[in-house]
Amino acid sequence: ENMAGHLPTSLKGLDNALCGGIPFGVVTELVGPAGIGKTQFCLKLSLLASLPSSYGGLDGSVIYIDTESKFSSRRMIEIGFNSFPEVFQTEGMAQEMAGRILVLRPTSLSEFTESLQKIKVSLFQHGVKLLIIDSMAALLSGEGVQGPQRQHSLGWHISFIKSVAEFSRIPVVVTNQVRSQSRDGTSHYSFQEQGRGESPEAATKLDSHLVAALGIHWAHAVSIRLIFESKSGQRFIKLAKSPVSPPLAFPFNITSSGISL
Ligand code: ATP
Ligand code: MG
Repeated sequence: ENMAGHLPTSLKGLDNALCGGIPFGVVTELVGPAGIGKTQFCLKLSLLASLPSSYGGLDGSVIYIDTESKFSSRRMIEIGFNSFPEVFQTEGMAQEMAGRILVLRPTSLSEFTESLQKIKVSLFQHGVKLLIIDSMAALLSGEGVQGPQRQHSLGWHISFIKSVAEFSRIPVVVTNQVRSQSRDGTSHYSFQEQGRGESPEAATKLDSHLVAALGIHWAHAVSIRLIFESKSGQRFIKLAKSPVSPPLAFPFNITSSGISL
């Protein structure tokens, strides 16, 4: 067992493979095409981190950096009511839980930089037990910085995110949208510029800017990579990178209670 602990995801098979869930102190990346369920997974994790410990939660606050304005407190409360009815039916609990999730909405790379600098202090002051960045790739498509300059500016963010995980010893979860697999079935995950609204079955097309921007530096910063994908109408979470498990795939569904088996 890892001394630093784990945040269970509520998906039993995945939790077993990860020795208990999303580990504290490292960066976990969720990658997959638009609409596959990365944000739904983040909402569930936010609930689990903020839930009272008597119900298996971490009883903490969550910092949710929402770069795509896709966080929905309404949807989070719906998932809460359906997943943990005993907690959410308690008077005032839904509001209290929602109040534990601090949502930041940077709209540019410079605002994102400010958000990261601000949270370094709040992490300790507010008993933060989970940091989510949903998503990282979205920040890269907006600003007009090209090529090496962009890669340089992101290097700082990548190092900072990794160090936040290490010094605060909380789980850090970052999402990245990619285009789906090519028709021959080989994985060509590439970072996608957001806002094109493609289905999970969309064809693969490389976006060289985004690949260059995150690149090898990012690959090394990430300890666990979960690939979200859809095959013949069934969604899967594939444990693509893990220090403790072989590559395994776990089926999941999205229902009124969020991500579930
Ligand atoms: P993007 O990369 O565009 O942000 P994503 O991977 O974050 O995509 P999500 O927003 O997490 O995708 O998932 C969207 C999916 O969740 C949709 O397929 C939608 O049908 C499903 N979904 C959302 N709310 C509900 C609900 N209340 N009941 C069932 N399914 C839902
Ligand atoms: Mg999303």
